[in-house]
Amino acid sequence: MTAPARVLTVAGSDSGGGAGVQADLKTMLALGVHGMSVLTAVTAQNSLGVTGAWELPAEAVRAQFRAVVDDIGVQAVKTGMLSSAALTATVADLLTGLGVPVVVDPVGVSKHGDALLAEDAAGTVRTRLLPLATVATPNLDEVALLTGVVVRDEDGMRAAAEAVLGCGPRWALIKGGHLPGGAEAVDLLSDGVREHWYRAPRHGNRHTHGTGCTLASAIASHLALGREVPEAVGLAKDYVTGALAHGFPLGAGIGPVDHGW
Ligand code: PLP
Repeated sequence: MTAPARVLTVAGSDSGGGAGVQADLKTMLALGVHGMSVLTAVTAQNSLGVTGAWELPAEAVRAQFRAVVDDIGVQAVKTGMLSSAALTATVADLLTGLGVPVVVDPVGVSKHGDALLAEDAAGTVRTRLLPLATVATPNLDEVALLTGVVVRDEDGMRAAAEAVLGCGPRWALIKGGHLPGGAEAVDLLSDGVREHWYRAPRHGNRHTHGTGCTLASAIASHLALGREVPEAVGLAKDYVTGALAHGFPLGAGIGPVDHGW
């Protein structure tokens, strides 16, 4: 028997099982890779929002990372909730020189409006983490937080990609899902030379918890399987579109996307 491709998520726990590390590991299972996790923070969370969040000590993050990387090895990494500037810097130190694709989901605020990153941490994400990214996957709110660029239409997504690429990732995937109106959810992938647009029909399903985590994990999984970035993004978008179409009610609020459809 040969070992499967191994993918590591460095992210926060969602006790409700819809986003964060739980969404990442479900995505990895569904895509046939071995998922591993370095927990950065624990959230008390359900379909209504986050009721508490606790960051893990830097030492615990480092120890998890070393345990996994030194023995099992990784073929791709995804980062999600990093909680603070200090922890973002710790993770950047760990990823420096790792030599495998890194997908950075620069998580800022949840759909419910709960802060998952300290207000003073955007600069550290920009200067320490984004330069290490093979692909950075900001949504439009995160583009504004990181670069100050406010996107109002599809054309504005080009300026967003340029601004994000200015922070140093190899590719920027600008997620236009929050753009008002339009029958399609549009994302733009750019490396400054090549441009790929991805379009999927918009759906009316309100159970969308965990979409960003799922997309970034799916990209990391396909990169670990040896695919090039544009193809990995296209396959990941297909996966999220399906999971989103099957998102289901859970609790009284916003339910999760479905990894088992
Ligand atoms: N909780 C954790 C731990 C997360 O990492 C994220 C997103 O990255 C969320 C919650 C928010 O998920 P959503 O905005 O899809 O509801």
